[in-house]
Amino acid sequence: MKKIVCLLLLLVGSGCSSYSKQSSDPQNKETGKIKVLSSIAMIDDIVGEIAGDRVEHSALIIGEIDPHSYELVKGDDERIDQATLVFFNGLNLEHGASLQHKLLSHSFAMALGDLLLQAHPEQVLFEQGQPDPHIWMDVSLWMHIVDPISKALSLKDPEGREFYEGRANALKEKMRHFHEELTHKMQNIPQEKRYLVTSHDAFSYFTRAYLALEGEKQSGAWRKRFAAPEGLAPEGQLGIADLQKIVDYLREYRIHVVFPESNVSKDSLQKIVLACRAKNQNIHFSQKPLYGDSMGARGTPSGNYLGMIEHNAQVLIEEWE
Ligand code: FE
Repeated sequence: MKKIVCLLLLLVGSGCSSYSKQSSDPQNKETGKIKVLSSIAMIDDIVGEIAGDRVEHSALIIGEIDPHSYELVKGDDERIDQATLVFFNGLNLEHGASLQHKLLSHSFAMALGDLLLQAHPEQVLFEQGQPDPHIWMDVSLWMHIVDPISKALSLKDPEGREFYEGRANALKEKMRHFHEELTHKMQNIPQEKRYLVTSHDAFSYFTRAYLALEGEKQSGAWRKRFAAPEGLAPEGQLGIADLQKIVDYLREYRIHVVFPESNVSKDSLQKIVLACRAKNQNIHFSQKPLYGDSMGARGTPSGNYLGMIEHNAQVLIEEWE
């Protein structure tokens, strides 16, 4: 927390000597480039958009791995130690004990979601007292990580400040435009169809931003448009009551399709579908899974942040229209 507060002070211009560029900052000795490590691919993609190949950047957790419960594996310690800058989501996303401990012990690890919570507390959702970490699901919220990343890069690589700022501004404009287009596209789907059921609670921000009616966003009634049997982290044991709640929800809102997620087991949804069919409720799985906590493989259309969001939107549109 001390580091986050210190960094916040720095970002508003108060200065903080412990975060000035240090000659001991780790960097590639051959290229002189600073090394930037992000916990998840969605953050790394934004780093890449801002920094291009001016830095060496990578993500720690890639592919279909659950970031909520991720624990360090061989080599991770070194990668974190060797990074000049580490960005992570925070809001309790990365709560595997070994990873959390390592992140907090790094000299410059920035919890981007925690910064969002400090700056715009009204935008962050809570479930049973726990912050919902899936802020990347609303592009207008994810935009808020762009400037902190740009400023941190400029701090460690002052000669690149103009370069980073220019690209950060262009990226924010692109994201703003994407957000508006996506809102328009999703609002064109009949509102009685915009009820979403996925495996775990990763889509509340998406639902509030893109599926809800305007009045529902203000009143909080948007919450009725999304349900998932598993909670904020897909690791809890499910009881019959959890499953029955979703079966009832599907019936109440006349929902005929559920959406598995690429990195979460389909077991709970499978049980729900079978329970519905036993009662002659016609439910099917979407043809393609959604990306909840991950992105597609690098080089594929969904292998970047906006492409991943676009993929999710297209899957929903294909099933609902
Ligand atoms: Fe998640």
